[in-house]
Amino acid sequence: MSEKVTLGIDIGGTNTVFGIVNQNGEILSESSVKTKSFATAELLMKEVYLWIQTQLDGKLLKGIGIGAPNANYFSGCIEFAPNLDWKGKIPLKEITERIFHIETVITNDANAAALGEMMYGAARGMTDFVEITLGTGLGSGVIAGGKLIYGHDGLAGEFGHISIDRDGRICGCGRNGCLETYASSTGVIRSIALLGHPDKSKSILTTLENPTAKDVFDAAHNEDPFAQFIISYTAENLGFALANFAAFSNPRAYVLFGGIAQSGASFLEKVKHEMERNMLTIYQNKVEVLLSELHDQNAAVLGAAALAFQEIS
Ligand SMILES: [Zn+2]
Repeated sequence: MSEKVTLGIDIGGTNTVFGIVNQNGEILSESSVKTKSFATAELLMKEVYLWIQTQLDGKLLKGIGIGAPNANYFSGCIEFAPNLDWKGKIPLKEITERIFHIETVITNDANAAALGEMMYGAARGMTDFVEITLGTGLGSGVIAGGKLIYGHDGLAGEFGHISIDRDGRICGCGRNGCLETYASSTGVIRSIALLGHPDKSKSILTTLENPTAKDVFDAAHNEDPFAQFIISYTAENLGFALANFAAFSNPRAYVLFGGIAQSGASFLEKVKHEMERNMLTIYQNKVEVLLSELHDQNAAVLGAAALAFQEIS
């Protein structure tokens, strides 16, 4: 019998990565294109279609899973994604099914990462956990009872927009103090300008023209006190929010994914410490904080492929 596979596609603001994945989570072949070189989603999917014709080699394509920003599982549309050039509502599921003649499911990138983590990563065997993706923004995928929580409209899991300070930093969503204005690479960069510290004037960060979050982590690694202060501040805000969220979701674990999460053991330890310090007594020392075990580059493709395996029979 021919091997069953799914096609996982991760559409990002910069790159679109796609791969053929088997049930063991092995990516059998993979490729990528620049998202911005396609004027429409239709042109992009036609390109992926041409690619897969040369790759299947007798394997049985069971379904297609797509992770994309602002992708709504229920409507099958990408809805007003700020990081993509395709504006408005894009009926991605319908477009893909028309081109491939194969059942397609779509969801946002953080939800896809959560499913990938449950099938192939640090959350194998878990039925209740929250995947937190720390990138340009902060995304989350919530798994409860072994199922992804989509919510009433398919928009659940906007953990990045839980406010931790109602007089805090202004967020792109128009509200104040959203978690992602602190705990994301953009938040870390904002901290350079906004935070004060006795050693700030001596910090390398104040000499860089366009510092990145990686610059902050590198400087902290090189014992720069201001950079270390920023990392602590970021970890404290994230830990505080994780403690709050535990109170209504009672997860077994939080799994942190993305560049900031991978930046070092001390960040993870600080997040854990601050979470425990703020945790309601009944949950203390029960909730794990783990690093993603999905290889950074392939995680989104694995997640999207896992979505197809889970949802398409
Ligand atoms: Zn917000």
